Amino acid sequence: MSSTSTPESLQNFVAGRFQPAADGRVLDDLDPARNRVVATIPRSAAADVDAAVAAARAALPGWAATPVAERAAVLDRAATLIEARLDDLARIESRDSGKPVSLARRIDIPRAVANFRFFAGAVRHQHAGFHDMDGRALNYTLRRPAGVCALITPWNLPLYLLSWKTAPALAMGNTVVAKPSELTPGTATALAGILAEAGLPAGVFNLLHGLGPEVGGPLTAHDGVDAVSFTGGTATGRLVAQAAAPRFKKLSLELGGKNATLVFADADLDAAVDGAVRAGFTNQGQVCLCGSRILVERSVHDRFVAALVARVSAMRVGPPDDPATELGALSSLAHRDKVASYVQLAREEGGTVACGGVVPALPAPCDQGAFFAPTVLTGLAPTCRVAQEEIFGPVVSVHPFDDEADAVAIANGVRYGLAASVWTRDLSRAHRVSAALETGMVWVNTWLLRDLRVPFGGMKESGVGREGGELSLQFFSEARNVCIQL
Ligand code: NAD
Repeated sequence: MSSTSTPESLQNFVAGRFQPAADGRVLDDLDPARNRVVATIPRSAAADVDAAVAAARAALPGWAATPVAERAAVLDRAATLIEARLDDLARIESRDSGKPVSLARRIDIPRAVANFRFFAGAVRHQHAGFHDMDGRALNYTLRRPAGVCALITPWNLPLYLLSWKTAPALAMGNTVVAKPSELTPGTATALAGILAEAGLPAGVFNLLHGLGPEVGGPLTAHDGVDAVSFTGGTATGRLVAQAAAPRFKKLSLELGGKNATLVFADADLDAAVDGAVRAGFTNQGQVCLCGSRILVERSVHDRFVAALVARVSAMRVGPPDDPATELGALSSLAHRDKVASYVQLAREEGGTVACGGVVPALPAPCDQGAFFAPTVLTGLAPTCRVAQEEIFGPVVSVHPFDDEADAVAIANGVRYGLAASVWTRDLSRAHRVSAALETGMVWVNTWLLRDLRVPFGGMKESGVGREGGELSLQFFSEARNVCIQL
């Protein structure tokens, strides 16, 4: 592992001040495409959690009492500031995560802008519930902030997911302690500065860097935290749920997935191949919604696989800052090794590596990076481990099915239930299959087409609750009914 000449020293942001961990300890932040240290972050611990929660509690009454129009104006200004720093933020996101700069410019950073603008508008237009009891009494519903909110986010879409939680939390008058992934601390640190510049009072948004068990653990269990919104892996989600349970904190969990792409013989096959490639390999396959299991009707299976393999083999893996790069590095060498181990497992489970499955040779300095060739596996039983467990990398497995019932049974035959995409020209089938799938979201003849108003989230072991539009505003608030006898 090498180091740049002057790694940046990133800081926590507590009570309106950038500061190190109380005990001064730090961790390295690596660029996974070049395996070099680009920054250090505070290795925060329980004392830092106490300080951040105290700052958030102290700021809560003032922010909760701030008029909605002023809160929304802060969010709008934050959106404008993020937009103005698009290139810089995209570069930081790419450097921390290994994703192509072009992807961060096209998706991650614009979506953070959209999240702030969207929730500024949503809170301005929110209206309260009202129920008239036949003239005898009137009920109206007040929405009060949930309180101090812990926001814990993963490394795959760092600013995109942090802003998806931060914007509605702030809009509803809550204060925040955010804990981004230790692998991708850069844009969260930039966001702390941007929110201050946008006029957010000190203590309303606090940021702690560090390791999950050392920061996320004490934070989720802290008596001063009222609500926990977590996005990450299912195993971690279980720990978060346990930590939050004794105090019955409000809890939102967006967890892992093993999503199916269902391709029926009547589909537009070219469009389905395009969709399956996008669903399988966007962000190196590191999107919770990625379609890592491709189920194809047997009569078109071989034709589909041939077209898929031709497309995937031609994808360009390369340096994240090369505009021609389609797939950058994975998040870390350890994660790359885990992904590679699943390809080895696929061989042991009787599968065939139709393409990929190797570490590609890249020119220095990327020869040290966490790259992996996009991989298509065939010949695996849908019940085997490779087809059941979340790999979270550029690896898809293709499975034939016989009829609609078979397709739905295979799609539902996992413990996850996040998303699916269905490719068919038969409108009735599209409705039937969408209704039968055990997932929180279904796309028909598309994938990851997002409307920020709609419910987002999963069922089974993919999560608890939904985010999006009014649902996010509800999560980040307490409803209080007031009944007035007339
Ligand atoms: P992870 O669960 O390892 O980490 C997520 C966050 O939790 C990090 O900030 C980490 O430091 C923190 N953490 C770790 N241990 C903790 C603990 N004991 N208590 C509190 N916090 C703790 O996940 P990851 O590897 O960063 O991200 C990949 C996972 O996230 C995948 O499973 C992916 O499917 C999932 N994900 C889900 C969604 C969704 O919306 N459903 C979106 C993106 C990613």
